[in-house]
Amino acid sequence: MSTAPSHDLPLGHLTHCQICASANLEMIMDFGHQAPCDSLLKPGQLLEMEKTYPLRLLRCPACGLAQIDHVVAPEELFYPDYPYRSGITETLVKNLQAIASRHIAGLKLPRGGLVVDLGSNDGSILQGFQREGMKVLGVEPTNIAQIAIAHGIPTVQAFFDPQVARDIVQQHGRAVMVTAANMFAHVAKLGQLIRGVEELLTDDGYFLSESHYLLDLLETVQYDSIYHEHLKYYSLQTVSRLLGSYNFTVVDAERIPNYGGSIRVVARKGRGHAVSERLTQLLQAEQAARLDTPAPFHTFRERVLRAKRDLQSLVLQLVSRGERVVGVGCPGRSSTLVNYSNLDPDLMPYIAEQSTSLKLGLFLPGKHIPIVDEKILFEQQPENVLMLSWHYCEPIVRNLRKQGLRSKIIVPLPEVRFHES
Ligand SMILES: [Zn+2]
Repeated sequence: MSTAPSHDLPLGHLTHCQICASANLEMIMDFGHQAPCDSLLKPGQLLEMEKTYPLRLLRCPACGLAQIDHVVAPEELFYPDYPYRSGITETLVKNLQAIASRHIAGLKLPRGGLVVDLGSNDGSILQGFQREGMKVLGVEPTNIAQIAIAHGIPTVQAFFDPQVARDIVQQHGRAVMVTAANMFAHVAKLGQLIRGVEELLTDDGYFLSESHYLLDLLETVQYDSIYHEHLKYYSLQTVSRLLGSYNFTVVDAERIPNYGGSIRVVARKGRGHAVSERLTQLLQAEQAARLDTPAPFHTFRERVLRAKRDLQSLVLQLVSRGERVVGVGCPGRSSTLVNYSNLDPDLMPYIAEQSTSLKLGLFLPGKHIPIVDEKILFEQQPENVLMLSWHYCEPIVRNLRKQGLRSKIIVPLPEVRFHES
Protein backbone atom coordinates (compact mmCIF):
# COMPACT_ATOMS: atom_id res chain seq x y z
CA MET A 1 0.00 0.00 0.00
CA SER A 2 1.31 3.46 -0.84
CA THR A 3 2.15 5.98 1.87
CA ALA A 4 1.32 8.93 -0.39
CA PRO A 5 -0.99 11.72 0.88
CA SER A 6 -4.67 11.10 0.21
CA HIS A 7 -5.42 13.76 -2.47
CA ASP A 8 -9.08 12.88 -1.91
CA LEU A 9 -10.94 16.18 -1.77
CA PRO A 10 -13.96 16.96 0.38
CA LEU A 11 -17.04 18.41 -1.32
CA GLY A 12 -17.69 22.16 -1.25
CA HIS A 13 -15.26 25.00 -0.67
CA LEU A 14 -11.55 24.11 -0.51
CA THR A 15 -9.30 26.04 1.82
CA HIS A 16 -6.05 24.24 0.88
CA CYS A 17 -4.05 23.43 -2.26
CA GLN A 18 -5.28 20.23 -3.90
CA ILE A 19 -1.77 18.81 -4.26
CA CYS A 20 0.49 20.17 -1.53
CA ALA A 21 -2.15 21.24 1.05
CA SER A 22 -0.72 24.75 1.46
CA ALA A 23 -3.30 27.20 2.85
CA ASN A 24 -1.72 30.13 1.02
CA LEU A 25 -3.57 30.35 -2.32
CA GLU A 26 -3.51 33.34 -4.68
CA MET A 27 -6.77 34.37 -6.38
CA ILE A 28 -6.42 34.91 -10.13
CA MET A 29 -9.98 35.13 -11.54
CA ASP A 30 -13.46 35.14 -10.06
CA PHE A 31 -16.20 34.05 -12.48
CA GLY A 32 -18.96 34.44 -9.91
CA HIS A 33 -21.47 31.67 -9.28
CA GLN A 34 -21.92 29.36 -12.27
CA ALA A 35 -24.04 26.29 -12.97
CA PRO A 36 -22.08 23.10 -13.79
CA CYS A 37 -21.41 23.52 -17.51
CA ASP A 38 -22.75 20.18 -18.74
CA SER A 39 -25.91 20.34 -16.63
CA LEU A 40 -28.02 21.23 -19.63
CA LEU A 41 -31.69 21.72 -18.89
CA LYS A 42 -34.69 19.94 -20.35
CA PRO A 43 -37.61 22.21 -21.28
CA GLY A 44 -39.54 21.08 -18.18
CA GLN A 45 -36.70 22.19 -15.88
CA LEU A 46 -36.56 25.82 -16.97
CA LEU A 47 -38.80 27.10 -14.19
CA GLU A 48 -37.15 25.06 -11.44
CA MET A 49 -34.45 26.27 -9.08
CA GLU A 50 -31.04 25.96 -10.70
CA LYS A 51 -27.97 25.07 -8.67
CA THR A 52 -24.91 27.29 -9.06
CA TYR A 53 -21.53 27.16 -7.34
CA PRO A 54 -18.62 29.59 -6.94
CA LEU A 55 -16.12 29.38 -9.81
CA ARG A 56 -12.70 30.88 -9.10
CA LEU A 57 -9.22 30.23 -10.49
CA LEU A 58 -6.40 30.25 -7.94
CA ARG A 59 -2.74 29.36 -7.99
CA CYS A 60 -0.61 27.83 -5.26
CA PRO A 61 2.69 29.72 -4.85
CA ALA A 62 4.19 26.72 -3.02
CA CYS A 63 3.76 23.99 -5.70
CA GLY A 64 2.55 26.00 -8.71
CA LEU A 65 -0.80 24.19 -9.15
CA ALA A 66 -3.55 26.22 -10.83
CA GLN A 67 -6.90 25.08 -9.47
CA ILE A 68 -10.46 25.99 -8.58
CA ASP A 69 -11.60 26.02 -4.98
CA HIS A 70 -15.01 24.41 -5.05
CA VAL A 71 -15.78 20.71 -5.47
CA VAL A 72 -19.22 19.81 -6.83
CA ALA A 73 -20.34 16.23 -6.09
CA PRO A 74 -19.18 13.97 -8.95
CA GLU A 75 -22.62 12.32 -9.09
CA GLU A 76 -24.03 15.73 -9.90
CA LEU A 77 -21.47 16.54 -12.63
CA PHE A 78 -21.25 13.12 -14.25
CA TYR A 79 -24.91 12.17 -13.93
CA PRO A 80 -26.31 9.14 -15.80
CA ASP A 81 -27.62 11.21 -18.74
CA TYR A 82 -24.36 13.18 -19.11
CA PRO A 83 -24.51 14.50 -22.70
CA TYR A 84 -20.84 14.60 -23.78
CA ARG A 85 -19.61 12.13 -26.40
CA SER A 86 -15.98 12.21 -27.54
CA GLY A 87 -16.91 10.12 -30.61
CA ILE A 88 -18.69 13.00 -32.37
CA THR A 89 -15.60 15.21 -32.66
CA GLU A 90 -13.81 13.71 -35.63
CA THR A 91 -10.33 15.18 -35.12
CA LEU A 92 -10.46 14.19 -31.46
CA VAL A 93 -11.29 10.57 -32.27
CA LYS A 94 -8.36 10.42 -34.71
CA ASN A 95 -6.00 11.76 -32.05
CA LEU A 96 -7.34 9.42 -29.37
CA GLN A 97 -7.07 6.36 -31.57
CA ALA A 98 -3.52 7.23 -32.58
CA ILE A 99 -2.53 6.65 -28.95
CA ALA A 100 -2.82 2.92 -29.54
CA SER A 101 -0.62 2.51 -32.59
CA ARG A 102 2.04 4.91 -31.30
CA HIS A 103 2.33 3.66 -27.76
CA ILE A 104 2.00 -0.08 -28.27
CA ALA A 105 5.16 0.09 -30.37
CA GLY A 106 6.91 2.89 -28.46
CA LEU A 107 6.46 1.30 -25.06
CA LYS A 108 6.76 -2.28 -26.35
CA LEU A 109 3.43 -3.32 -24.83
CA PRO A 110 2.92 -7.08 -25.09
CA ARG A 111 0.34 -7.92 -27.82
CA GLY A 112 -2.88 -9.21 -26.32
CA GLY A 113 -2.22 -7.47 -22.99
CA LEU A 114 -5.07 -5.73 -21.20
CA VAL A 115 -5.59 -1.97 -21.63
CA VAL A 116 -8.08 -0.26 -19.32
CA ASP A 117 -9.41 3.22 -20.10
CA LEU A 118 -10.81 5.29 -17.24
CA GLY A 119 -13.65 7.67 -18.08
CA SER A 120 -13.84 5.69 -21.30
CA ASN A 121 -16.89 7.59 -22.58
CA ASP A 122 -18.09 5.99 -25.83
CA GLY A 123 -14.99 3.79 -26.13
CA SER A 124 -13.20 5.89 -28.76
CA ILE A 125 -9.71 5.26 -27.34
CA LEU A 126 -10.22 1.57 -26.77
CA GLN A 127 -11.42 0.97 -30.31
CA GLY A 128 -7.92 1.94 -31.38
CA PHE A 129 -6.31 -0.55 -28.97
CA GLN A 130 -8.78 -3.27 -29.93
CA ARG A 131 -7.87 -2.89 -33.60
CA GLU A 132 -4.21 -3.33 -32.64
CA GLY A 133 -5.00 -6.67 -31.02
CA MET A 134 -5.07 -5.66 -27.36
CA LYS A 135 -7.64 -6.81 -24.82
CA VAL A 136 -9.66 -3.79 -23.72
CA LEU A 137 -11.96 -2.73 -20.89
CA GLY A 138 -13.59 0.63 -20.24
CA VAL A 139 -14.67 2.15 -16.94
CA GLU A 140 -17.29 4.87 -17.34
CA PRO A 141 -19.81 6.15 -14.76
CA THR A 142 -22.44 7.60 -17.11
CA ASN A 143 -24.93 5.89 -19.43
CA ILE A 144 -22.57 6.58 -22.33
CA ALA A 145 -21.07 3.25 -21.17
CA GLN A 146 -24.03 1.60 -22.94
CA ILE A 147 -23.07 3.21 -26.26
CA ALA A 148 -19.56 1.77 -25.86
CA ILE A 149 -20.93 -1.68 -25.05
CA ALA A 150 -23.21 -1.54 -28.09
CA HIS A 151 -20.10 -0.83 -30.19
CA GLY A 152 -18.34 -3.92 -28.85
CA ILE A 153 -16.21 -2.28 -26.14
CA PRO A 154 -16.69 -4.12 -22.82
CA THR A 155 -17.31 -1.44 -20.20
CA VAL A 156 -17.90 -1.38 -16.45
CA GLN A 157 -20.36 1.39 -15.55
CA ALA A 158 -18.82 2.78 -12.34
CA PHE A 159 -16.63 5.49 -10.80
CA PHE A 160 -13.14 3.96 -10.71
CA ASP A 161 -11.56 3.29 -7.30
CA PRO A 162 -9.32 0.62 -5.69
CA GLN A 163 -12.29 -1.74 -5.21
CA VAL A 164 -13.22 -1.54 -8.90
CA ALA A 165 -9.51 -2.10 -9.68
CA ARG A 166 -9.44 -5.26 -7.55
CA ASP A 167 -12.61 -6.57 -9.21
CA ILE A 168 -11.08 -6.02 -12.64
CA VAL A 169 -7.83 -7.78 -11.66
CA GLN A 170 -9.84 -10.73 -10.36
CA GLN A 171 -11.89 -11.08 -13.53
CA HIS A 172 -9.43 -10.01 -16.24
CA GLY A 173 -5.96 -10.00 -14.69
CA ARG A 174 -3.61 -7.00 -14.45
CA ALA A 175 -3.39 -4.30 -17.10
CA VAL A 176 -0.23 -3.49 -19.05
CA MET A 177 -1.54 0.02 -19.58
CA VAL A 178 -4.17 2.25 -18.01
CA THR A 179 -5.27 5.36 -19.90
CA ALA A 180 -7.18 8.38 -18.63
CA ALA A 181 -7.83 10.97 -21.31
CA ASN A 182 -9.36 14.24 -20.29
CA MET A 183 -10.54 13.00 -16.90
CA PHE A 184 -7.42 13.13 -14.73
CA ALA A 185 -8.06 16.79 -13.86
CA HIS A 186 -11.72 16.05 -13.14
CA VAL A 187 -11.44 13.58 -10.29
CA ALA A 188 -12.12 14.69 -6.72
CA LYS A 189 -11.01 11.39 -5.15
CA LEU A 190 -7.73 11.48 -7.04
CA GLY A 191 -5.76 9.61 -4.37
CA GLN A 192 -8.19 6.71 -4.71
CA LEU A 193 -7.85 6.80 -8.47
CA ILE A 194 -4.05 6.72 -8.44
CA ARG A 195 -3.95 3.95 -5.84
CA GLY A 196 -6.49 2.05 -7.95
CA VAL A 197 -4.29 2.43 -11.03
CA GLU A 198 -1.31 1.18 -9.01
CA GLU A 199 -3.26 -1.96 -8.03
CA LEU A 200 -4.53 -2.54 -11.53
CA LEU A 201 -1.18 -2.31 -13.35
CA THR A 202 1.45 -5.00 -13.81
CA ASP A 203 4.69 -4.25 -11.94
CA ASP A 204 6.20 -2.13 -14.69
CA GLY A 205 2.93 -1.14 -16.40
CA TYR A 206 2.20 2.30 -17.84
CA PHE A 207 -0.28 4.96 -16.88
CA LEU A 208 -1.03 7.40 -19.68
CA SER A 209 -3.05 10.51 -18.92
CA GLU A 210 -4.12 13.47 -21.03
CA SER A 211 -5.13 16.73 -19.46
CA HIS A 212 -5.80 20.20 -20.70
CA TYR A 213 -2.43 21.97 -20.50
CA LEU A 214 -1.86 25.05 -18.38
CA LEU A 215 0.64 26.59 -20.79
CA ASP A 216 -1.94 26.49 -23.61
CA LEU A 217 -4.69 27.74 -21.33
CA LEU A 218 -2.62 30.80 -20.40
CA GLU A 219 -1.10 31.47 -23.83
CA THR A 220 -4.35 31.28 -25.78
CA VAL A 221 -6.60 32.74 -23.06
CA GLN A 222 -8.81 29.68 -22.72
CA TYR A 223 -10.64 30.95 -19.69
CA ASP A 224 -13.75 29.20 -21.00
CA SER A 225 -12.12 25.85 -20.17
CA ILE A 226 -12.34 26.79 -16.51
CA TYR A 227 -15.43 25.12 -15.06
CA HIS A 228 -16.37 22.88 -12.15
CA GLU A 229 -15.50 19.61 -13.89
CA HIS A 230 -11.89 20.81 -14.19
CA LEU A 231 -10.57 20.91 -10.65
CA LYS A 232 -6.91 21.23 -11.61
CA TYR A 233 -5.02 22.87 -14.51
CA TYR A 234 -1.85 20.83 -14.82
CA SER A 235 1.60 21.75 -15.91
CA LEU A 236 4.16 18.98 -16.42
CA GLN A 237 5.84 20.13 -13.24
CA THR A 238 2.72 19.77 -11.09
CA VAL A 239 1.56 16.45 -12.56
CA SER A 240 5.08 15.03 -12.10
CA ARG A 241 5.11 16.18 -8.52
CA LEU A 242 1.73 14.55 -7.90
CA LEU A 243 2.52 11.17 -9.49
CA GLY A 244 6.01 11.18 -8.02
CA SER A 245 4.48 11.13 -4.54
CA TYR A 246 3.05 7.70 -5.41
CA ASN A 247 4.84 4.63 -6.76
CA PHE A 248 5.27 6.12 -10.25
CA THR A 249 7.95 7.78 -12.39
CA VAL A 250 6.81 10.20 -15.08
CA VAL A 251 8.92 8.99 -18.02
CA ASP A 252 7.57 10.92 -21.00
CA ALA A 253 5.44 13.94 -21.84
CA GLU A 254 4.36 15.77 -24.97
CA ARG A 255 2.05 18.57 -26.02
CA ILE A 256 -0.93 17.46 -28.14
CA PRO A 257 -3.67 19.50 -29.85
CA ASN A 258 -6.73 17.90 -28.13
CA TYR A 259 -9.22 20.34 -26.55
CA GLY A 260 -7.24 23.38 -27.67
CA GLY A 261 -3.95 22.17 -26.17
CA SER A 262 -3.36 19.25 -23.87
CA ILE A 263 -0.45 17.43 -22.30
CA ARG A 264 0.00 13.68 -22.63
CA VAL A 265 1.95 12.28 -19.71
CA VAL A 266 3.24 8.72 -19.51
CA ALA A 267 4.12 7.42 -16.06
CA ARG A 268 5.61 4.02 -15.32
CA LYS A 269 4.92 2.07 -12.18
CA GLY A 270 7.94 1.98 -9.90
CA ARG A 271 10.57 4.56 -9.11
CA GLY A 272 13.76 5.68 -10.79
CA HIS A 273 12.93 4.86 -14.44
CA ALA A 274 14.80 6.79 -17.16
CA VAL A 275 12.99 9.83 -18.59
CA SER A 276 12.74 11.00 -22.21
CA GLU A 277 14.60 13.91 -23.74
CA ARG A 278 11.40 15.73 -24.68
CA LEU A 279 10.15 15.52 -21.10
CA THR A 280 13.25 17.40 -19.97
CA GLN A 281 12.75 19.95 -22.76
CA LEU A 282 9.14 20.55 -21.80
CA LEU A 283 10.11 21.18 -18.19
CA GLN A 284 12.60 23.75 -19.47
CA ALA A 285 9.90 25.40 -21.60
CA GLU A 286 7.72 25.72 -18.49
CA GLN A 287 10.57 27.36 -16.65
CA ALA A 288 11.16 29.75 -19.53
CA ALA A 289 7.45 30.68 -19.42
CA ARG A 290 7.84 31.29 -15.68
CA LEU A 291 4.84 29.05 -14.96
CA ASP A 292 5.88 28.84 -11.32
CA THR A 293 5.54 32.61 -10.87
CA PRO A 294 2.48 34.89 -10.73
CA ALA A 295 3.46 36.90 -13.84
CA PRO A 296 1.86 34.78 -16.60
CA PHE A 297 -1.34 34.52 -14.54
CA HIS A 298 -1.59 38.29 -14.22
CA THR A 299 -1.14 38.70 -17.97
CA PHE A 300 -3.81 36.05 -18.50
CA ARG A 301 -6.23 37.93 -16.26
CA GLU A 302 -5.76 41.18 -18.19
CA ARG A 303 -6.34 39.37 -21.49
CA VAL A 304 -9.49 37.64 -20.19
CA LEU A 305 -11.01 40.93 -19.09
CA ARG A 306 -10.21 42.57 -22.42
CA ALA A 307 -11.64 39.66 -24.45
CA LYS A 308 -14.82 39.71 -22.40
CA ARG A 309 -15.34 43.47 -22.84
CA ASP A 310 -14.56 43.32 -26.57
CA LEU A 311 -17.01 40.49 -27.14
CA GLN A 312 -19.76 42.22 -25.20
CA SER A 313 -19.38 45.50 -27.04
CA LEU A 314 -19.18 43.81 -30.47
CA VAL A 315 -22.35 41.75 -29.88
CA LEU A 316 -24.21 44.79 -28.53
CA GLN A 317 -23.16 46.85 -31.54
CA LEU A 318 -24.25 44.19 -34.05
CA VAL A 319 -27.58 43.55 -32.37
CA SER A 320 -28.27 47.29 -31.98
CA ARG A 321 -27.96 47.78 -35.71
CA GLY A 322 -30.44 44.99 -36.33
CA GLU A 323 -28.10 42.10 -37.12
CA ARG A 324 -28.53 38.62 -35.70
CA VAL A 325 -25.83 36.84 -33.65
CA VAL A 326 -26.24 33.12 -32.92
CA GLY A 327 -23.93 30.57 -31.34
CA VAL A 328 -22.25 27.67 -33.17
CA GLY A 329 -21.10 24.58 -31.28
CA CYS A 330 -21.94 23.85 -27.68
CA PRO A 331 -18.92 22.30 -25.95
CA GLY A 332 -18.95 22.32 -22.14
CA ARG A 333 -16.78 25.39 -22.20
CA SER A 334 -19.43 27.48 -23.98
CA SER A 335 -21.30 27.72 -20.69
CA THR A 336 -18.46 29.60 -18.98
CA LEU A 337 -18.01 31.90 -21.97
CA VAL A 338 -21.68 32.73 -22.51
CA ASN A 339 -22.54 33.14 -18.84
CA TYR A 340 -19.43 35.08 -17.90
CA SER A 341 -19.82 37.34 -20.95
CA ASN A 342 -23.47 37.80 -20.04
CA LEU A 343 -24.89 36.93 -23.45
CA ASP A 344 -28.65 36.69 -22.89
CA PRO A 345 -31.09 34.95 -25.27
CA ASP A 346 -32.22 38.38 -26.56
CA LEU A 347 -28.65 38.90 -27.83
CA MET A 348 -28.02 35.29 -28.89
CA PRO A 349 -31.34 33.48 -29.43
CA TYR A 350 -29.96 29.97 -30.05
CA ILE A 351 -26.87 27.78 -30.24
CA ALA A 352 -26.58 25.47 -33.24
CA GLU A 353 -25.04 22.01 -32.74
CA GLN A 354 -24.33 19.18 -35.17
CA SER A 355 -27.23 16.77 -35.78
CA THR A 356 -25.54 13.86 -33.94
CA SER A 357 -25.17 15.79 -30.66
CA LEU A 358 -26.88 14.53 -27.51
CA LYS A 359 -27.48 18.18 -26.55
CA LEU A 360 -30.17 19.03 -29.11
CA GLY A 361 -33.46 20.15 -27.54
CA LEU A 362 -31.76 21.10 -24.27
CA PHE A 363 -30.94 24.55 -22.86
CA LEU A 364 -27.64 26.08 -21.79
CA PRO A 365 -27.52 26.37 -17.97
CA GLY A 366 -27.69 29.88 -16.58
CA LYS A 367 -28.75 31.80 -19.68
CA HIS A 368 -31.26 29.17 -20.89
CA ILE A 369 -30.33 29.52 -24.56
CA PRO A 370 -31.88 26.67 -26.61
CA ILE A 371 -29.56 24.23 -28.40
CA VAL A 372 -30.88 23.41 -31.86
CA ASP A 373 -29.91 21.38 -34.93
CA GLU A 374 -27.38 23.28 -37.06
CA LYS A 375 -29.57 22.83 -40.16
CA ILE A 376 -31.32 26.04 -39.08
CA LEU A 377 -28.13 28.01 -39.86
CA PHE A 378 -28.26 27.20 -43.55
CA GLU A 379 -31.95 28.10 -43.79
CA GLN A 380 -31.73 31.35 -41.83
CA GLN A 381 -28.19 32.51 -42.76
CA PRO A 382 -27.93 34.87 -39.76
CA GLU A 383 -25.62 37.86 -40.35
CA ASN A 384 -23.19 36.65 -37.64
CA VAL A 385 -22.37 33.43 -35.84
CA LEU A 386 -20.28 33.24 -32.69
CA MET A 387 -17.89 30.28 -32.79
CA LEU A 388 -18.17 28.69 -29.34
CA SER A 389 -16.02 25.68 -30.37
CA TRP A 390 -13.30 28.17 -31.29
CA HIS A 391 -10.59 25.75 -30.10
CA TYR A 392 -11.49 23.55 -33.12
CA CYS A 393 -12.17 26.58 -35.30
CA GLU A 394 -10.54 25.77 -38.66
CA PRO A 395 -12.11 22.36 -39.45
CA ILE A 396 -15.52 23.57 -38.26
CA VAL A 397 -15.38 26.75 -40.36
CA ARG A 398 -14.31 24.75 -43.43
CA ASN A 399 -17.20 22.38 -42.89
CA LEU A 400 -19.78 25.16 -42.37
CA ARG A 401 -18.61 26.99 -45.50
CA LYS A 402 -18.74 23.76 -47.49
CA GLN A 403 -22.35 23.36 -46.42
CA GLY A 404 -23.08 26.87 -47.67
CA LEU A 405 -22.98 29.08 -44.58
CA ARG A 406 -22.56 32.73 -45.62
CA SER A 407 -22.63 34.38 -42.15
CA LYS A 408 -19.70 36.34 -40.76
CA ILE A 409 -17.96 34.20 -38.17
CA ILE A 410 -16.89 35.74 -34.86
CA VAL A 411 -14.03 34.01 -33.04
CA PRO A 412 -14.19 35.02 -29.36
CA LEU A 413 -10.68 34.11 -28.14
CA PRO A 414 -7.74 34.61 -27.60
CA GLU A 415 -8.77 38.03 -29.01
CA VAL A 416 -12.17 38.79 -30.50
CA ARG A 417 -12.00 38.83 -34.32
CA PHE A 418 -13.96 38.05 -37.47
CA HIS A 419 -12.74 34.93 -39.27
CA GLU A 420 -11.22 35.88 -42.67
CA SER A 421 -13.11 33.24 -44.64
ZN1 LIG B 1 0.25 23.56 -3.72
